Amino acid sequence: MDRIYNIGIIGGGVSGVVTALELAKYGIESILFEHKESVVNGPPFCHLHAGGNLYPDISDEQCKILLKQSIDMARLFPNSIDERPTFISVPKSEKYKVDKIRNRLDMLVEHYKGLIDEDPANEILGTPKEYYKTYTKKDLIELAEYPTFNRPNSLDKWMSNAIKLIDYEKLKTPVFLVQEYGWNLFRLGAQAQLALTKTEKCNLKMNTKVTSIKDVRSQNLDYNWEICTEEKVYKVNYLVNSCGFKTGDMDESLLLNTERLIEFKAAYISKWHHLPGLIPELIFHGERGTPNGMAQLTPYCEDYYQIHGMTTDITLFKDGLVQSKDNETQPEFNEDINQKLSHGWYKDEIKTRTKNAIAFVTKFVPKFESATVGGPPLFGAQQIHGNDPKRRVGEVSFPCKSYARSEIIKASSALAVANKIITKIQEEEIIPLIQKKINRNFLLERISKKEIDKLASELAVQRGYPKALSRLVIERE
Ligand SMILES: Cc1cc2nc3c(=O)[nH]c(=O)nc-3n(C[C@H](O)[C@H](O)[C@H](O)COP(=O)(O)OP(=O)(O)OC[C@H]3O[C@@H](n4cnc5c(N)ncnc54)[C@H](O)[C@@H]3O)c2cc1C
Repeated sequence: MDRIYNIGIIGGGVSGVVTALELAKYGIESILFEHKESVVNGPPFCHLHAGGNLYPDISDEQCKILLKQSIDMARLFPNSIDERPTFISVPKSEKYKVDKIRNRLDMLVEHYKGLIDEDPANEILGTPKEYYKTYTKKDLIELAEYPTFNRPNSLDKWMSNAIKLIDYEKLKTPVFLVQEYGWNLFRLGAQAQLALTKTEKCNLKMNTKVTSIKDVRSQNLDYNWEICTEEKVYKVNYLVNSCGFKTGDMDESLLLNTERLIEFKAAYISKWHHLPGLIPELIFHGERGTPNGMAQLTPYCEDYYQIHGMTTDITLFKDGLVQSKDNETQPEFNEDINQKLSHGWYKDEIKTRTKNAIAFVTKFVPKFESATVGGPPLFGAQQIHGNDPKRRVGEVSFPCKSYARSEIIKASSALAVANKIITKIQEEEIIPLIQKKINRNFLLERISKKEIDKLASELAVQRGYPKALSRLVIERE
């Protein structure tokens, strides 16, 4: 007789793998289906939004959630966290008020203190006092005269390296340095894949596309769902839909109608000349979707830099944001975007958009003019449930019995989603009550840094990116 799995998870992005790993650590078996040849191979991520300071338009509440969820994920995957700060500024041409940014940072410091009071191990972003620092114009003039620091070990040294490159006359002051770190998707994917492959508690099926779902809950069988792939039908009791921007495909299979947006975006890889000292990630705020949208420069190893520019010539795309229609749960992109998602990009467009991105950053970092195309873009589509495109925190919903739909918008929400799903599965008595909840995941902890280094580098190369993108700028001990 065919085996019945307690939990079937569709989609091996960050959400699906974290759910499978959290179940496995409690000894709960699952089967995880991933269409692609490796896990965490969907839309990219590079920034741990530990406070949501890249989004001046979102609510304080969302910022607090992002701070807490980011800390939780960083504790789970420390080997994927790049501990360099983020420079936050507002160009003089833009509407955002620096006082408002500072008030929000103060609010976040208080929230961070509270999280540390709850659990001292939450102090992973430095002390609350060091969470951010403000720099006036006078400070910047002084710091620009400091020597360059090869490996800065204080916020002032990071700022000193950065400000030598930035045309700060274009910026409102003060500017800020914040402990929002980098987040390496290749390293997270490698660690998760190694842990899932090693545990007997998860049947990881990569290169396996789920073609449809059949609801058999009313048929009085020993299981609730049939998960159909091209080769086989799998029987499961509880279904987790973590298909990312494709969650609507499974909903359609189940005749569930839900409102959602999907958005396609890209970030560009450039190579610059060698700098004598490391720099933080650089943020120049601007209104999203206008020609002056936010510019984001993310440093990687070996002089590679990733660029986001929130304009339709760079990161955003015409018709890149699509809403579900009344009679259609899964929104559809146009042919051009579908082509990119399934077959990749034409070389000409990589060149044009990367050059646009370099020129965009050059407005604030004049010497960046000499940067060149460094590789193919990191790109993909993400889901936003409901109809508010500004929403940055999404979690999970339970549209019917024995069914969970992950709706994360930022990768940091993955652990919160996994925990809510586990609670729900216990409530439905599909698994026994877990007597003692633990934060740590020993399946992840037993993967060595050496193993992560090796697989992360293989994953980067397999996906067509420079090996250097799999390493951290600040190597961990
Ligand atoms: C350009 C860009 C930059 C971003 N930057 C950041 C950032 O800096 N920080 C951050 O936190 N977030 C960032 N995000 C968001 C982040 O990428 C997503 O939140 C996250 O990857 C979503 O994870 P997920 O597991 O829900 O979905 P996905 O990663 O999309 O995973 C879904 C998986 O399901 C699989 N799948 C789908 N259908 C099927 C099927 N029928 N059968 C089998 N498998 C299937 C897919 O192959 C995929 O691997 C960014 C997004 C984009 C587009």
